[in-house]
Amino acid sequence: PTPRALTIKLVNAFKPHLRGLASYPYRAVDAPIKLDQNESPYDLPPELKQQALRRLEGLHWNRYPSLHADEVRAKLAEGLGWPPEGLVVSPGSNLLIQALVQAANRVVDTAPTFPHYAFSAKMQAAPYQQVPLGPEFTLPTEGLSQAMKGEPALVFLPNPHAPTGRLFPASEVAVLAHQARETGGLLVLDEAYQQFSGSDHLELARTNPHVALLRTFSKAWGLGGIRAGYLLGSTEVCAVVQNFLPPFGVPAHTAAILLTVLEHPEYTRGVVQTLVAERERVYAALQEHPSWKVYPSQTNFFLIRTPDAAAAYQGLLARGILVRRQDHYFGLEGCIRVSIGTPEENTRFLEAALALPEVSH
Ligand code: PMP
Repeated sequence: PTPRALTIKLVNAFKPHLRGLASYPYRAVDAPIKLDQNESPYDLPPELKQQALRRLEGLHWNRYPSLHADEVRAKLAEGLGWPPEGLVVSPGSNLLIQALVQAANRVVDTAPTFPHYAFSAKMQAAPYQQVPLGPEFTLPTEGLSQAMKGEPALVFLPNPHAPTGRLFPASEVAVLAHQARETGGLLVLDEAYQQFSGSDHLELARTNPHVALLRTFSKAWGLGGIRAGYLLGSTEVCAVVQNFLPPFGVPAHTAAILLTVLEHPEYTRGVVQTLVAERERVYAALQEHPSWKVYPSQTNFFLIRTPDAAAAYQGLLARGILVRRQDHYFGLEGCIRVSIGTPEENTRFLEAALALPEVSH
């Protein structure tokens, strides 16, 4: 189903631009095989859950947690070789996106892309510009460079890109980082799917304070339900973003769980390995599909162009598989997005995909 356009009811105390603003485009649907939110299909193993619970049990629940998730920041900083003052931890990277938009003069992103950048800009009534991706979803380096001229801008760019799955070349991202420095802007590289691509932008951020990285625990770490993400950047950028988040904002239970998984990076590495191997298997198998075009992906999901997104969505759902329609986005006519699940789920998906009746137009 296409997202329901709910209208936010306005009281007079709210800013006028909020009148008629649609709610976030997502509707929950139940299905036995859930491949619609790019989550990890693997829940944390019981031993790790027990460790996290024991840690939580040892805390004083009557006391506020540290001001800025200090223990988590210290642990992340140690692992990344990054100063703790250059890290902001928050309940979900979505909140960091909102904080960044609140702080920004103006916002630029690509079309299509992760909808929360535009959604946040609309909520804030921030000046906002979208630059269309190039043919076959290539990086519009020239268009983005142009868009960065003038009033300094904050640019959101997921790399690997969502929802196309494509990893942009480092040399082109470097051009944008350079342009951010030249124009006094900030290039925010959203690394939500970084682990699945095997590359990152840590060195770029280390050498250019006009680059910041956004990361989440919701995908490779398998903690979508826990809500945690972080921003990595210069001390100055992080100090400003931190001010837009509530004090004591990362709950003690979230911190306890994060510290536990950070002590066991081998668990996440194993999950990533399995999912990447499955991604390659699914990609190869879908080459056999008579009418679907699968875009290459460096993430844990695929964007797939079908003759009819509604028919593909319904056909898969009828076989117990929930995917996400993407055909309401600019340039994504006929497209659906499918997450990589467990090997069994992927096999079921492939069987269903190849058994769908052909749609003729
Ligand atoms: N960025 C991108 C590109 C995403 O796809 C998502 C989640 N779908 C997020 C950020 C938000 O992640 P979080 O769960 O940390 O809010």
